[in-house]
Amino acid sequence: MERDTISAEAEQAAPVLEGRRIAIVGYGSQGAAHAQNLRDSGMEVRVGLRPGSASRARAEAAGLEVSDVADAAEWADIVAVLIPDTAQPRVYRESIAPHLRPGNTLLFAHGFNVHFGAIDPDPEVDVVLVAPKSPGPMLRREYALGNGVPALVAVHQDVTGDARRKTLAYAYHLGSARAGLLETTFAEETETDLFGEQAVLCGGLTSLIQAGFETLVEAGYQPEVAYFECLHEMKLIVDLAYQGGLSGMRANVSDTAEFGDYVSGPRVIGEESRKAMREILDEIRSGAFARRWIHDSENGNPEFSRFREEGARHILEPVGLGLRRQMAWLAADAAGGASGNGGAPTPEATSAAKGAS
Ligand code: NAD
Ligand code: MG
Repeated sequence: MERDTISAEAEQAAPVLEGRRIAIVGYGSQGAAHAQNLRDSGMEVRVGLRPGSASRARAEAAGLEVSDVADAAEWADIVAVLIPDTAQPRVYRESIAPHLRPGNTLLFAHGFNVHFGAIDPDPEVDVVLVAPKSPGPMLRREYALGNGVPALVAVHQDVTGDARRKTLAYAYHLGSARAGLLETTFAEETETDLFGEQAVLCGGLTSLIQAGFETLVEAGYQPEVAYFECLHEMKLIVDLAYQGGLSGMRANVSDTAEFGDYVSGPRVIGEESRKAMREILDEIRSGAFARRWIHDSENGNPEFSRFREEGARHILEPVGLGLRRQMAWLAADAAGGASGNGGAPTPEATSAAKGAS
C-alpha cells in the first residue's frame, strides 16, 4: 500500500529530471543497467570511466557517450557513483568532489561509504540512494521487457528541498517504480544489506553447505553424494522459496522432508547461531566490520586474499567442478553462457554480476 503511494509519487516526480544531466560513474553490473535504462527513458546520460577502462568499448557499443570521471562530474547535475565500494572514496575525493556545484545530486546504489564515513559528502549537494534489489543484468533485462525490479530509496542530505523528488524520479526512470519502491535510510539499507549477506545469503549459506558436506563425508559417505545433497539441490529449494515463500517450498517437497524440516532446522540454527547473528549485527552497526574491511582494502587485501585461497582449497570445490562438467546446462554456464536467473555468477565465469544484493 505504502509502496503503491510511493510509486505514484515517483511517477509525478518523473519530470524533475528533464533537462538535468546524469553522469554514471562506472560501467559494471549496476552502471551499465542504470546508464541504458535512464537513456532509454529519455534522460541525458554520460558515462564516466577511468582512462583506459576496459568498460569503455562496451559503453560506446551501447551508444553511450563516455568521458573521464572528472569531465563527466563537471558536466553533470546528478552524479551516480556506481564503481566498487572500495574504489569509491578515492575516486570521489580526486575526480568527483572538485567538480560538484551547489545543488547537484550525488547518488549511490549502496549506502556503505556515506554511512560509515569513508566518503564525507560535500555539504552543498543532495546525497541520495537508489538501490535496486537485483544485479545489474536483471535490472536491465526487466526494464527492456517493460517491467522493473524493486528498489530501496533514501535521502541522506537534502540541501535543495528537492532531493526526495529527484530520488523518486531517478528510480522511476530506472523502471523500479513499476515493481515497487521502498523508502529507507542509508543506515537501514547499509546495515541490513551487510547483515543479510554475512549472516544469511553468503556467509550463512556457505558455512551451512560446507558443514553439512563435511558431516556426511566425515561419516564415510561419498563426497559426490554429499555435494548433491548439500549444494546442488539448494537451488531447487531456494527457487521454490523465492517463488512461494517458505510455505510454498514446504508444499512442494515431500511430507517426509517437511516433517524433518520442522524437527531439525531449529537445532541447526539454535540459540548459539542466533547469538552469533546478534553479535554480527552489533559489529556491523558499531562500524567494526566496516573498519576491518576498509583497513584490509587499503593494505592490499591480505586478509581477503587469505580467506579466498582457503575457500577455494575446500574439497567441496574439485568435487563440484567434476560433477558440474557432466551437466550440460551447467557446463554452458561455466563457459560464460546466460544463467537464466538474472545474471547470477558462476565461479568459472568472471561475471559482472557480483554482489549479493
Ligand atoms: P562493478 O564491480 O560491477 O563495477 C565495475 C565498474 O567500475 C567498471 O566500469 C570499472 O571500470 C569501474 N571501476 C572499478 N574501479 C574503478 C576505479 N578505481 N575508478 C573508476 N572506475 C572504476 O560494481 P557494481 O557491482 O555494479 O557496484 C556498484 C555499486 O552498486 C556499489 O556501490 C554496489 O554496492 C552497488 N550495488 C551493486 C549491486 C550488484 O548486484 N552488483 C546491487 C545493488 C547495489
Ligand atoms: Mg546486498
